[in-house]
Amino acid sequence: MEIQKLNKEIRDNYLERMKIRPPERLSVSWYQDDLLYRGSGKSLFVIVPTPGCSWALGDSGGCTMCSYISDCTLEPIDDELIIQLFKKELDKHLDDIKTDGKTMPIAIKIFVSGSFLNPQEISKEVRCEILETISKIDEIKEVIVESRPEYVKKEAIEEIFPIIGDRLFEVSIGLESQNEFIREEKINKGFSKEDFEKAVNIMAKIDNDEDNDYKAKSKAYIFIKPILTSEKEAIDEAIQTAYYAESVGVSRVSFCPATIHKGTIIERFWRKGSYQPPWIWSVIEVINETRKNLNIPSFMDTSGFGSRRGPYNCKKCNKDLKHTIIDSNIKQSVIDDYECQCKNEWLAEINSKNFNKSKTKIKHLPLI
Ligand code: SF4
Ligand SMILES: [Zn+2]
Repeated sequence: MEIQKLNKEIRDNYLERMKIRPPERLSVSWYQDDLLYRGSGKSLFVIVPTPGCSWALGDSGGCTMCSYISDCTLEPIDDELIIQLFKKELDKHLDDIKTDGKTMPIAIKIFVSGSFLNPQEISKEVRCEILETISKIDEIKEVIVESRPEYVKKEAIEEIFPIIGDRLFEVSIGLESQNEFIREEKINKGFSKEDFEKAVNIMAKIDNDEDNDYKAKSKAYIFIKPILTSEKEAIDEAIQTAYYAESVGVSRVSFCPATIHKGTIIERFWRKGSYQPPWIWSVIEVINETRKNLNIPSFMDTSGFGSRRGPYNCKKCNKDLKHTIIDSNIKQSVIDDYECQCKNEWLAEINSKNFNKSKTKIKHLPLI
């Protein structure tokens, strides 16, 4: 429980110091190549400002690696304003969507820095209005949102389809790890595998229901390298989590290698030299293993790659490998052999993972 206590303390501290930006400065969008369910196409990403993730703002202090609340207002936002900002972002890309939509499928990914399906974060009225707006754009064929599993309710999902018509709807859920201890104690996720499976099953049941044509999918986010995890353990755990996610019926997995967010426990460990984000070599290991063995698509998030706070190899190969990985996400290909002198350093770390390891079970180690 020491982790939770420290996590909450760090979060409260950060919230006190956090510079709050107005909603108008928090809405952002970008448009890029992507691999959709229908094949190669484009995705529009829209960040919609909200008061913030309930899990992060509650007594738990939220997940140990995440500070998405810094992109939130921490106070209620007028529904009308949220809708207006969403439409403004959408309008910026409408011409491109209309043109590209003639030759390729288009998806929209709505990020609310928390759970789209939690009415405390985004009211039902706003949710419906956003979906209504999307439904008027024929070119958009897939709608992707993020949510914690406890908000994935049959009734809420079934309300969505009459609005979006025959578009595919995917909920991405931050499972992070299949290991209950890692998810609970190192990430402070606050939900069980059972909760996750329940949400996946709700989506699958709607998807398979022969009485409707709804296309309801789920995706698992998998976190690479939580705190107190060796490089080798991080690789193995990410791979195992992908296998587990596929076995319980998700349609896709997306790996999120750690980056150091401000005001988090992971940042505290990093500043004290007790934590380092994963090597890009490790990320490649995860890609290659899972692409060979999974029957569902897997994606690798490359944000923060090559930066001081993100996955890092060396100045010579960071950029090259980042672009290779982005390209491989679209093609779902493995990463070909690539040589750089930093690889031996990584191999040394992987092969010596147990040298300093205590035999005491981590459960019984006090943190502070
Ligand atoms: S990872 Fe998701 S659930 Fe966890 S604190 Fe961040 S936004 Fe909230
Ligand atoms: Zn290198």
